Amino acid sequence: MCQLLPPPKRYPKEDPPPGAAWTLVEGRSVMNNLFSEQIRGPHLKREFWNQVYCYDHTRDGTHICCSCRRFEPRNEKFVSLGDDRRDGRRICNDCFSTAILETQGIEPLVRYVLRFFDHLNMKIKAPIPVFSVDRGEMRRQTAGGTAPVHPDTTVLGLTMCSYRDITSVDKSRLQGRKIVTEMETYRFGHEYRIKILVLFGLPLVMTGGILAHEFMHAWLRLQGVSRLNPEIEEGICQVMGYQWLDWFEAVDPEASSSRSEKAQFMRNLKKTFKGEVENMLDGAYGDGFRDAQWAVSRYGLDHVIRHIIRHKTLPRE
Ligand SMILES: [Zn+2]
Ligand SMILES: [Zn+2]
Repeated sequence: MCQLLPPPKRYPKEDPPPGAAWTLVEGRSVMNNLFSEQIRGPHLKREFWNQVYCYDHTRDGTHICCSCRRFEPRNEKFVSLGDDRRDGRRICNDCFSTAILETQGIEPLVRYVLRFFDHLNMKIKAPIPVFSVDRGEMRRQTAGGTAPVHPDTTVLGLTMCSYRDITSVDKSRLQGRKIVTEMETYRFGHEYRIKILVLFGLPLVMTGGILAHEFMHAWLRLQGVSRLNPEIEEGICQVMGYQWLDWFEAVDPEASSSRSEKAQFMRNLKKTFKGEVENMLDGAYGDGFRDAQWAVSRYGLDHVIRHIIRHKTLPRE
């Protein structure tokens, strides 16, 4: 365990509220600024959104945006990303405005992620197809799959080294407040060893962070590195996703300089995702990230990655 970074936040109830970037505030009576009701007792506050909710809304069926984790206010209707059987996620309108909704739409973002690897002198030469998939397909691929997978119910991205067929979201359109998808199943010969899946319907910055994480798995496979301890592998992949968020803000002119409401929203979203990565409780992802991030801040990314390739561990004193 890394001693130099603070331990992850713990929540007093038996399960953490969705999204680790929540802060539980005890006591004091405040106004719930979404539902116009008085809150007495513990409530939740989001650091970057200036919104306050009763803890009870995490359990009363109120929809939560799958990206920024804000609750659906009374005066806004979130977009449904498919029925509960296949997907069941909801997304707020702000997050939806830059959401990647189909496989074709992901290409420009993949180019940004590859540029990020180039800039780190980690060029990825092999063609690696990337597919947008819904939650049902992600579940199918992770159950019994052999690739390293993210834990828990919502897997955001997956790097596959198998030749299983993939059913991706080929086209999608908004019908009322619901996304209707058209699927396409791809079958593979042995032309592509590595494939990446990413959950569809997430905003651009979040999708980019997930892709940077997944491309790091792919990059390690291309270097011939396998069977790493999950804390080492997921930790360094989380670092790449985290660093991509900052890099993208610096290279994307709209994100870095604009004072528009949308640009401000994107910056808040990025801070939220970074907060989630920093505070994740899961060992491989949370502790793995904090250890890797500590090593990177001390020895530099280049040295840490070379050390992982050679010794399958993080450098330590
Ligand atoms: Zn949202
Ligand atoms: Zn991973």
